[in-house]
Amino acid sequence: MTTATERAGYPLERIRNDFPILQQSIHGHPLAYLDNAASTQKPRAVIDCIRRVYETDYSNVHRGVHSLSQRATDRYEAARCRLQAFLKARHSHEIIFVRGATEGINLVAQSFGRSHLKAGDEILITAMEHHANIVPWQMLSEQIGTRLVVAPIDRQGELQLDALIDRLSAKTRLVAVTQVSNALGTINPVREIIEQAHARGIPVLVDGAQAVPHLAVDVTALDCDFYVLSGHKLYGPSGIGVLYGKEQWLKAMPPYQGGGDMIRRVTFEKTEYNGLPYKFEAGTPNIVDTIALGAAVDYLEAIGLDAIAAHEAELLAYATRRALEIPGLTLIGTARHKGAILSFTLDRIHPHDIGTLLDMQGIAIRAGHHCAMPVMDFFGVPATARASFGLYNTLAEVDALMDGLGEIIKVFR
Ligand code: PMP
Repeated sequence: MTTATERAGYPLERIRNDFPILQQSIHGHPLAYLDNAASTQKPRAVIDCIRRVYETDYSNVHRGVHSLSQRATDRYEAARCRLQAFLKARHSHEIIFVRGATEGINLVAQSFGRSHLKAGDEILITAMEHHANIVPWQMLSEQIGTRLVVAPIDRQGELQLDALIDRLSAKTRLVAVTQVSNALGTINPVREIIEQAHARGIPVLVDGAQAVPHLAVDVTALDCDFYVLSGHKLYGPSGIGVLYGKEQWLKAMPPYQGGGDMIRRVTFEKTEYNGLPYKFEAGTPNIVDTIALGAAVDYLEAIGLDAIAAHEAELLAYATRRALEIPGLTLIGTARHKGAILSFTLDRIHPHDIGTLLDMQGIAIRAGHHCAMPVMDFFGVPATARASFGLYNTLAEVDALMDGLGEIIKVFR
């Protein structure tokens, strides 16, 4: 069985061959890797890029006059331009390399938050945020007395947009919203949220951690003020990510960390900071993984995000159809617009048991609260099982998952 996208030329077999890790058995079964929302596997292009940089071009960046340092610097800065083009940012200096989405949000909370917000100001988020888009704002509240306001979701896991708009008050100083929920799969109407917020002069941060591997993103067209992503969810390395910020904001924000590279001149009396983007990149950066993130973006764009999205949409539609036939299975997150994430519970079977028993059949899913405990509380479950699809998954793997769930139900009957 193939997807219509495959029949139209999506090179699924070749793609699968690009991922060495997929070519293995787990407990005697072919691996079905369905945990892509937690982290994606890496194509050979990314793995080879890391090896090649260490073998041929590695040195510290920015400060060296020797050839290796210049080559490493050129490649590091080329990766910045690559990410600028990928996100369609206006300027390469609007691309700040950070460890991941989490660090990007913490940077905005501490730098923008502490310099632009004061006690009583409100930060508006949604009820489906990852802890990475909740806790940094709570920490800021403890530090300077801001207030976190939460826009509700409904039982389908859809954002109640009218309620969000109602909560945009004269005190709202920032809206921080996920584009795609990692726990529910919901795709939020971020463009509309940004328009509504901007009409009131309020900047918007978009958490794109779960969006960029599946949707083509254009930060200039979206007009978001900040956008964060994690490389490891984008078929790139872990420990590297991007904070995009509009030039006007980044210029007006103080450094987040101090140290080498983020300075122009240091004396014991006073330090003059460097310009963008270096002001926000203190210390030796994650040089090789940054370059490899550029390679991951090249890999994705060569396949085409629209083709990837179409293939994944078919996997999700098929998985949803089959899941609904399983007695005792409840889908958590049934929004009209969803990314390739299927969260569910099975009657009387703990999600961790589902995860462990599926692993015995070579099927990797995730079980837990998915770093979104408030979502679990809202649905009244301690955890869900979550299958999440990526560009290399097949309809046969969806079948393996659903057949596996059928077996588990028999064991527990
Ligand atoms: N936001 C969302 C929606 C996520 O899914 C994740 C990762 N699960 C994060 C933020 C945090 O990403 P990271 O752990 O890579 O910093």
